[in-house]
Amino acid sequence: MLKEALLWEKAMGNAVYCRLCMRKCLIDEGHLGWCQTRVNKEGALYTLTYGQVASMTISPIEKKPMYHFFPGSIWLTLGGVGCNFKCHGCQSWDVSHCDVKKKLPQTNYMSPETVVKKAKKNGCKGIVFTYNEPTMWFEYTLDVFKKAKEEGLSTCYVTNGYMTPQALDMISEYLDGFCVSIKGAFIESYTRISDISDINTIFSNTSDAKRKHAIHVEIITSIIPGYNSNEKESKEICAWIFAELGKDTPLHLTRFFPYGDFKDVAPTPAGLLDNLYKVAKREGIYYVYVGNIPGHNASHTYCQNCKKMVIKRKEYDEIEAILREGHCPHCNALIFGRFAF
Ligand SMILES: [Zn+2]
Repeated sequence: MLKEALLWEKAMGNAVYCRLCMRKCLIDEGHLGWCQTRVNKEGALYTLTYGQVASMTISPIEKKPMYHFFPGSIWLTLGGVGCNFKCHGCQSWDVSHCDVKKKLPQTNYMSPETVVKKAKKNGCKGIVFTYNEPTMWFEYTLDVFKKAKEEGLSTCYVTNGYMTPQALDMISEYLDGFCVSIKGAFIESYTRISDISDINTIFSNTSDAKRKHAIHVEIITSIIPGYNSNEKESKEICAWIFAELGKDTPLHLTRFFPYGDFKDVAPTPAGLLDNLYKVAKREGIYYVYVGNIPGHNASHTYCQNCKKMVIKRKEYDEIEAILREGHCPHCNALIFGRFAF
């Protein structure tokens, strides 16, 4: 289904500038943007993937991972096709980097109304876009979120943060949660991991999401040995979180498993994650988690004040809420986040 895109402007002749993500593609008539999800047809920009759902599950918010955002709730989780990054170790390469024109038959169209109905029927807290980069089908996510809000549902993006500030402004009115994958602190790391060399907007968007738009933000960094795994880089990420987002912003350090072009990279050693966990705690970040290692002590939430456990996470993302009305039951400190208990 061809639908006129948002966020583009006319260039010379019949060319257009896409203003959706920081690639800001200049697209000639008859051509696609870098992400292959947008086409210039007779001097106007159209999205090729509106409503074309490639994957859908009903799963706990802990899977995203979001640990301070309605813990224990289930969400209708949707992904489409395409990406504006080219991460060499991408775990969802088949949907992120397929040839959109050829692969579209593998998707199913779902209208925003159908998505919202399905979420409500299944008792979901809300709708989250993940698997591929949500901004790839920005217009659709916006329409789904508008409908979701009318029905009292919550909303969330799992994103690389590479949208333009204009795109963030537009979606922010309808967005409750923003789980941002931060690949590293330095341009060199982003270039090696994701072929991206302009990263400032990722950091400023994340900060704006929290500070300007009052969206709940959590940070995830997949620790890839030899790429973003040294202490200096972790310290830099923590210093940025501390200064720009606040020390109460949850940070997830997750284990990387070999995949794609990075299939020769070893899985992240548990000892390395333990060490970077300690680095982050020393830097003053309140809630640091180690992900993709089931049963790890750092998968639980601990009170920043008395250090006692306030949310216990079991297998299969089941949780045991120890905190009460968002406070530590031991010392009454406020635990940052949005809680239903
Ligand atoms: Zn406490």
